[in-house]
Amino acid sequence: MNVESAETQIPAQTATDRQAAARVDVIVVGAGCGGMVAVYKFREMGLRVQGFEAGGNVGGVWYWNRYPGARVDLPSIDYSFGFSTVIEQEWTWSEEFAAQPELLAYFNFVADRLDLRRHFRFETRVNSAVWDDARALWRVTSDRGDVVEAPYCVMATGPLSVPKDPEIPGLDRFRGELHRAARWPHEPVSFAGKRVGIIGTGSTGIQIVQEVGPQAGELFVFQRTPSFTMPMRNRKLTPDYVAEVKRHYAGLRQAARNSPNGGVRPSSTRAFFSVSPEQRRGLLEDAWKQGGLSVLGTFADLLVNEEANEQVAEFVRAKIDDVVTDPVVADKLKPRGYPIFARRPCLDSSYYETFNLPNVHLVDCLTDEIVEITERGVRTRSGEIELDMLILATGYDGLTGALLAFDVVGRGGVRVNDKWKEGARSYLGLMMAGFPNLFMTTGPNGPAALANIIRISEHDVDWIAALINHMADNRLATVEPTAKAEDDWMEIVRAMAGRTLVSKAKTWYVGANVKDKPLGLTLFTGGFPKYVEYCAAAATDGYRNFVFGNAKRSAAA
Ligand code: NAP
Repeated sequence: MNVESAETQIPAQTATDRQAAARVDVIVVGAGCGGMVAVYKFREMGLRVQGFEAGGNVGGVWYWNRYPGARVDLPSIDYSFGFSTVIEQEWTWSEEFAAQPELLAYFNFVADRLDLRRHFRFETRVNSAVWDDARALWRVTSDRGDVVEAPYCVMATGPLSVPKDPEIPGLDRFRGELHRAARWPHEPVSFAGKRVGIIGTGSTGIQIVQEVGPQAGELFVFQRTPSFTMPMRNRKLTPDYVAEVKRHYAGLRQAARNSPNGGVRPSSTRAFFSVSPEQRRGLLEDAWKQGGLSVLGTFADLLVNEEANEQVAEFVRAKIDDVVTDPVVADKLKPRGYPIFARRPCLDSSYYETFNLPNVHLVDCLTDEIVEITERGVRTRSGEIELDMLILATGYDGLTGALLAFDVVGRGGVRVNDKWKEGARSYLGLMMAGFPNLFMTTGPNGPAALANIIRISEHDVDWIAALINHMADNRLATVEPTAKAEDDWMEIVRAMAGRTLVSKAKTWYVGANVKDKPLGLTLFTGGFPKYVEYCAAAATDGYRNFVFGNAKRSAAA
């Protein structure tokens, strides 16, 4: 299918505009998992696609995050594309939780095998995307001087693609090696004999600490909020296991799509207080031994029942005492004051053990706050710690950062920046009123971050593709959700968010990690299948919640 047919009524625009612009059917921004699926799908539909990617190659977060110890926290089998049986059968995962080099190799394999790379311009950052209402086109410009126009634009910019420096004065003064986890050098970095500091103890920091601790001369871990982390218990996958998986991929994908988190990890319908304390203990111990996110899946109500949540939190805190030999350090490592799983639960293989090494030092920034970064290191209230290397694992401007980082201008010159002033608004996390023909994959107010990002990306692209097909079939040129549909969706998201404990921690999920960002949980917390249901309903009722325009109408507007 080519949407050119739907464009035949578009009147000629002013000559100067058209001269410089290349014309395609769909522009895709981002070559992470969402962008890769999008480019493949649209090409298979016969559309002309132009992708842009700031990085040098495909892979998104796995292209950028080359930090030591980077590893996926969902099973690799699950964290892989289900849209191509060729890929499923030809690629073989080596570990249950693959490390970044294997993940990046996977995304490169997919790009090669499906010939995706030729559709992208790499090392090219999009500067602006501006809707031309008269011509019903998105006009996208890049930092390399590209000007491309297309009736459709898909922002596959990812929920975690804008790294965030800490708001600590003096960062530019530091004379030692400065590394950002999410912009890690492509060359090997040596820690041997060096005094290394790391700021941040989220999923990223935890993975780095356990890897760098044994290698560094000294490692200083600047911890503000401790995270809950549980054993990953990673393992090599045997050929028999992989062969079995390959035989059953279709069923595994189906099971994943039907589970709240979009994955095949354990989940339960059992309420915490429905079983005896002994049984609870036994179930938690079993889950702990099993590893991964099994503890989260042991009971159904851990994200809604505060008392149940606290008891599980206490179970995990007690595990820290079992490992960390210094009781003062063990105590400082214990997360308190927020529900377990309200922050992204971390998985580790030797995080707590690392603090038993004589060269690893915990700096508790809750009691000894960082005041500045100096030429030589980090100064806390109690004094300066000299460092040869400082690593920043200080997180991201999540969910909204990528779309706010450049000019996205919709109908009537309204910018996403204006629209999201009070917090991210969208319909289904996929589209926004006032931004015709603009789509997002894993966008805010969808389930991103709470479910398997690859399953969400595939779903979102399929949904977008179906809408584009619908428009071509009906010779429609523009589409956007009604303001009411968006309002109603935001109300659903808000109401659900109010019922979950996920709102009760200061995290990137709620925007608490970025100064002046509007606070609020802009995630759909009703589970992946429910989300899919809502999206399907929005399509099957004849797209009643959308306003369509044909080319003549939009030209006259
Ligand atoms: P994060 O969870 O937002 O953690 C950032 C850390 O930096 C926090 O510990 C934060 O402390 C600290 N920090 C920020 N500013 C600070 C300051 N001025 N002083 C002291 N500490 C400061 O970021 P992340 O670890 O990069 O993880 C982000 C998300 O990426 C995760 O939630 C997960 O979804 C994803 N991720 C996944 C994997 C995986 O699959 N294995 C790995 C890495 C990341 P406060 O909490 O006190 O602000």
